[in-house]
Amino acid sequence: MLTMRDVLAARKIVDRHLPPTPSWSYPLLDEAAGRRVVVKHENTQPTGAFKVRGALNLLATLDGDEPIVTYSTGNHARAIAYAAREYRRRATIVMPARAAELRVRAVEALGATVVRHGADMGDAEAHAATLPGRLVSPGDEPALIAGVATLYCELLERHPELDTLVVPVGSGTGAAAACLVAAALAPGCRVIAVQSQAAPAAHDSWRAGTCQHRANHTEIDGLATGRGFAGPQAILREHLTDFVLLGDAAIGDARRLLARLAGTQAEGAGAAALAAVLARPGLMGSAVGVVVTGANATELELAR
Ligand SMILES: *Cc1c(COP(=O)(O)O)cnc(C)c1O
Repeated sequence: MLTMRDVLAARKIVDRHLPPTPSWSYPLLDEAAGRRVVVKHENTQPTGAFKVRGALNLLATLDGDEPIVTYSTGNHARAIAYAAREYRRRATIVMPARAAELRVRAVEALGATVVRHGADMGDAEAHAATLPGRLVSPGDEPALIAGVATLYCELLERHPELDTLVVPVGSGTGAAAACLVAAALAPGCRVIAVQSQAAPAAHDSWRAGTCQHRANHTEIDGLATGRGFAGPQAILREHLTDFVLLGDAAIGDARRLLARLAGTQAEGAGAAALAAVLARPGLMGSAVGVVVTGANATELELAR
């Protein structure tokens, strides 16, 4: 069972490698949202996404020198590769065959070995399980949640006035982390999760109370998952206030709004929290923390 002690230990580790990311408001964005919106800029991480926090914590706590093996389409791969480089561990990352060239190169440039295999994440996962080394699940690793939780410590320490946190969900580690930290540091603060209605596995798992498999048709990488993950779901069941599903188009609109009004680049998943604030104002309080979880837009997103 993960506790704040694990999070505080992770904080010491993450702080050794990364400065806190900025969090502040933009008056025009507040106006558009009809409330105060505090934007936490995880899109300024060296890997372009918040997942590096979890990977650093995981690598710090993995003994031995066997290679790290994992599977991912993008940001998890890059996070593990970055942390492996920091800790001088070998890393092998299985990416689906059609993974974007730039994403593959970004991982290789950090020194990890990329194996392209299979049509989707299910195939990549199955192949990763056959490779020698310590297999790391992108969702069911408590150390990832504890590492990612450090971002919510930074946010709530700096902005104790927040009454709502909105968190985009793929596997659910980020939302689980937000729930743990909010319950400890700001018990009145609600946590609202958001996923694409084109990939609702985590949402449906939370509503059903057991992990579900669902079709995954979203174009938004960070939110693309075909199943619920048991570890994060257990924490969400205890603490999450609500879970919103949005269309990919609404999330794309929020991405453009962040570029125009906040001068910041988000990938789709990185704009999903803001999209939820705009689409479901009735669920939100008067001071909302929105995490821009990632910057790594696809070529198509950039073109749009
Ligand atoms: C992975 C990711 C998410 C979702 O996080 P989970 O912890 O998998 O739920 C959201 N945004 C971005 C940019 C991501 O890379």
